[in-house]
Amino acid sequence: MIPMVDLKTQYAQIQDEIAQGFSEVLNQCAFILGPNVQAFEKEAAAYLGVRHAIGCASGTDALHLALLASGVGPGDQVITSAFTFIATVEAIKYIGAEPVFADIDPRTFNITPDSVEPLINSRTKAVLPVHLFGQPVDVIGLQALCERHGLLLIEDCAQSFGARVDGRQTGSFGAAGAFSFFPSKNLGCYGDGGMVATNDDAVADLVKQLRNHGSKIRYYHDVIGYNSRLDELQAVVLRVKLKRIDQYNAARRRAAHLYEELLAGLPLQTPYADELGEHVYHQYTLLCPERDAVIAALQAAQIASAIYYPVPLHKQNVFKEEHASLSLPHTEAVAAQCLSLPICSSLEAGDIRRIADVIRGVFAA
Ligand SMILES: *Cc1c(COP(=O)(O)O)cnc(C)c1O
Repeated sequence: MIPMVDLKTQYAQIQDEIAQGFSEVLNQCAFILGPNVQAFEKEAAAYLGVRHAIGCASGTDALHLALLASGVGPGDQVITSAFTFIATVEAIKYIGAEPVFADIDPRTFNITPDSVEPLINSRTKAVLPVHLFGQPVDVIGLQALCERHGLLLIEDCAQSFGARVDGRQTGSFGAAGAFSFFPSKNLGCYGDGGMVATNDDAVADLVKQLRNHGSKIRYYHDVIGYNSRLDELQAVVLRVKLKRIDQYNAARRRAAHLYEELLAGLPLQTPYADELGEHVYHQYTLLCPERDAVIAALQAAQIASAIYYPVPLHKQNVFKEEHASLSLPHTEAVAAQCLSLPICSSLEAGDIRRIADVIRGVFAA
């Protein structure tokens, strides 16, 4: 069986280092916001080239805290994508703001300055793009657009850790960047975890306070906060993997390039990577008109595949009444044809060849 993601091979390579780090934490019995979290936050900020990185309990919380701390509030409109994991929009809803969906570019699967601009009005407060599947959005174009209209830019980087645009890391362009360390993400821990990155000292201070019950000094509370902290054991894992993230992402890119080569000429669209951004292939996602036949053939050959995402957010039960009259032609067409193939840093060339052969077989028949 070839799974979507194989975490075991990677674990075998870093097992000893993780065991040693865990053993230190367990011996010291300092489990929450201890020395490993502090060190990880420093190392992550240095890696991303931002002034502050603040660990929290999940990527969903990172989005929530980033929106709150940047001053987005009830009644504000936030322009985002309907072709994303629901957490992006849950965070907007948590703070009483209103998601406004821009259509995507069918090549990159991301919203663009051109799709966002016509939606801007006096209630618009922020633009929240998602670097979907590890493909950076045109974040430089969106940054210029936000500056022109006095809007906040908040990046959902849950799928793009380590992706650069024009030499700079995703998550370093806007008021804040939100990261997820869910185990299967490019930088994943062994449970839930997340992080807010920012260059703004005030946003950083507020995120630190909000993640820890609204308190700066223990048992003194200035605002209503949350319990959303990164724990020491997760920080140990993240420190071990952060050192290797460029290597992991390079392996994903090599896998993607081999897929590209082996699937060339077939009636399907392989992932588009533009010149400006560096795709880190959180997912390797095709547009495939023959999706059902390909899934069936892969399944018969013991190869996993997945549809990210089958139903765009404006068509989900939870939102469809609110957005009943909304039509997003590119988003809807992509959701009907997208198909993600296995990809991870330890995927072997032989596996990629086997997968490509099965797909070629579908079209040869
Ligand atoms: C995974 C993910 C999130 C949420 O992260 P969690 O750590 O699972 O809460 C948010 N946005 C996107 C695009 C994601 O892929």
